[in-house]
Amino acid sequence: MDATSITDTFHRPLRDLRISVTDRCNFRCVYCMPREIFGRDYVFMPREQLLTFEEITRLASIAVAHGVLKIRLTGGEPLLRKDIEELVRMLARLRTPDGRAPDLAMTTNGSVLAQKALVLKDAGLNRVTVSLDSVREETFQAMNDAGYPVAKVLHALDVAQAAGLGPVKINMVVKRGQNDHDIIDTARHFKGSGFILRFIEYMDVGASNGWKMDEVVPSAEVLARISAVFPLDPVAPNYPGETSERWRYRDGSGEIGVISSVTQAFCRGCTRARLSADGKLFTCLFATAGTDLRALLRGGASDADLSAALSALWGGRADRYSVLRSANTPVAPDTAARRIEMSYIGG
Ligand code: SAM
Ligand code: SF4
Ligand code: SF4
Repeated sequence: MDATSITDTFHRPLRDLRISVTDRCNFRCVYCMPREIFGRDYVFMPREQLLTFEEITRLASIAVAHGVLKIRLTGGEPLLRKDIEELVRMLARLRTPDGRAPDLAMTTNGSVLAQKALVLKDAGLNRVTVSLDSVREETFQAMNDAGYPVAKVLHALDVAQAAGLGPVKINMVVKRGQNDHDIIDTARHFKGSGFILRFIEYMDVGASNGWKMDEVVPSAEVLARISAVFPLDPVAPNYPGETSERWRYRDGSGEIGVISSVTQAFCRGCTRARLSADGKLFTCLFATAGTDLRALLRGGASDADLSAALSALWGGRADRYSVLRSANTPVAPDTAARRIEMSYIGG
C-alpha cells in the first residue's frame, strides 16, 4: 500500500468516491423516491446549499490524493444538474499520486443522456451506467412513475455506446411483484447486444420505500430463472472485491451481472465513500449521519485541514451494515427511520 492511502478499522482502503450532485430527480421510482413522499410539497435542497463545482473538485482531489481511483457521479439524477459537463471536465484533470487519471463514471436514469452523451465523453467521462428496470413499457412506466417511455432510454443506451461511454452497464433493480416477471424478457433483449445487464437486489436504503424482505428477489433466484432458459457460467471477477458477480451466457452471447447487496453482504471489500450534494461525507450507504465537509470548506479550512478530516473519518470507519443485517444483529430501534435516502446520498 502506498504512503498516501488510508485504511479503516477493518483495513479497507478508500478507493471509490460517489458524488451526488443533486437530490432532485425527474423520475419517482417506487423503490427510491415514492411519489407519496416525494410529492409536490417535498422540499429539495436550496441551490446555495449545494456544493459548487469548485468545492466538489477540491474535495475529490483530496480524496484522490488519499487513494481514490474511481469517481462516480450520481444523485438524484446527475444530468439534471446544470452544466454537469463542466464538473466532469474539472474532475477529469485530477491525477492520483502516481500520475494516473481516476476512472470517471456516472449513474443516470438515461432520460436526457441522448442529448448529453457526446459532450460528456468530450469532457472526459469514461463510462455510464443506466438504470432501466424493465424493457416492457407498462412495467417500466409503473416503476418510474413519471410516464417516461422505455424507448427513450433504449435510444439513450445506443447513443451512449456509440459515443464511447461503454461498455454501458444497465442496472435493473428487481422488486418482487413489480418487475420480476420481466427478468427473462429484459435479459433476452440485451443478450448479444454488448450491453451488460446487472440485476440488483432491492435494498432497504432510506426510510421511505416501505422495504420488506419478501419483496427482495435473491440473485440466486434471478440466476436460476435465467439459466433455465439461457444457460450461464460463472466468470472470474475483474478485480478482487467487485460488487457485481459476473456470469456469461454459455452460447457466447455476452455477460450479465448480479449485485447481491442483501443476500450476500460485501462489506468486507467495501472501499466506498459517498459525498452528498450538500457536502456531507458518508462512509456507508446505510449511515444515519454524515460529516459536514461543506462547513469546513466554507469556514476557510486549508487542504491540510481537509486532508486531516478525511483521514480521521476514514481511519475510524467501522461500517458493515449489510453483514450485521444478514446476521440479524439488532440495530438501534430508531435507526431504520433515520436512514438517509438513496436519492440524497447517491446510489
Ligand atoms: N438517478 C440515477 C439513476 O437512477 O441511475 C442515479 C441515482 S440512483 C439513486 C442510483 C442507483 O440506485 C440506480 O441504479 C437505482 O436503481 C438504485 N437504487 C435506488 N434505490 C434502490 C433500492 N432501494 N435498492 C436497490 N437499488 C436502488
Ligand atoms: Fe431518480 Fe434514480 Fe431514484 Fe429513480 S433511482 S427516483 S431515477 S434517483
Ligand atoms: Fe459498504 Fe455499508 Fe454497503 Fe457494507 S453496508 S457494503 S459497509 S456501504
